[in-house]
Amino acid sequence: MSEPLLRIDHVTLRFGGLVANADVSLDVPEGQILGLLGPNGAGKSTLFNLISGTYQPSEGRIFFRGEDITPLSAPERCRRGIARTFQVPRSFDSMNVLENVIVGGFARHAGAAAARRRALETLDFAGLAHRAEAVAGELTPPEKRRLEVARALATRPKLLLLDEVLTGLTPSEAKAGVELIRKVAASGVTVIMVEHVMEVVMPLVDRAVVLHLGRVLAEGHPTEVVRHEGVITAYLGE
Ligand code: ADP
Ligand code: MG
Repeated sequence: MSEPLLRIDHVTLRFGGLVANADVSLDVPEGQILGLLGPNGAGKSTLFNLISGTYQPSEGRIFFRGEDITPLSAPERCRRGIARTFQVPRSFDSMNVLENVIVGGFARHAGAAAARRRALETLDFAGLAHRAEAVAGELTPPEKRRLEVARALATRPKLLLLDEVLTGLTPSEAKAGVELIRKVAASGVTVIMVEHVMEVVMPLVDRAVVLHLGRVLAEGHPTEVVRHEGVITAYLGE
């Protein structure tokens, strides 16, 4: 079997006495859309922070394309092709949409002209080209999520981490968001997505991993995972 794009190897993260991620091991093959599920506080966003380099694990290693990236900073991981969105969008509200994406792309593009060109292409890809000159703070909620995705894509990632980008959207907005995620995956980007809305996740993801109390509770095809007894208890016990 070929090497996974991402390997999380026995990773634990403690915040004082709280174990936010407990001995998590996970292989993500290139080309997959992986759904990361679990009740509130399960450790999903923390795992994204560990993958993207915001946090360092207390124990364990993280490998990307065979390289041990555990000691690398977030910008160094970004340069290697790991990008993420944040559960709470972090765009700069007073800047326009294009400027926001240019800022996102600077991590990978030295020249301003190249960054601008790349930003325009990315906005087009994300269905936001018509809003390039709009002030980011005035975007609608689904447009704000698209901008988050566009900013991450502007770094030309190989792995994209999406943290609840569809949460809080109407069903039709979420459906349009799903189409964008499919398009991202079809362009060759491996995706890990955290999402609560099961009807959205199920048809979209190739594989699902359920975290509960920081641990991997279940893993497999999404239809199998939701029938897992422990998963049902974890959600009902929320
Ligand atoms: P999820 O995204 O699955 O809802 P999180 O990863 O945000 O969960 O949080 C997992 C646990 O870690 C929660 O109990 C949360 O309170 C705790 N936690 C997250 N970040 C920090 C932090 N920076 N300091 C202390 N505790 C944290
Ligand atoms: Mg979260």
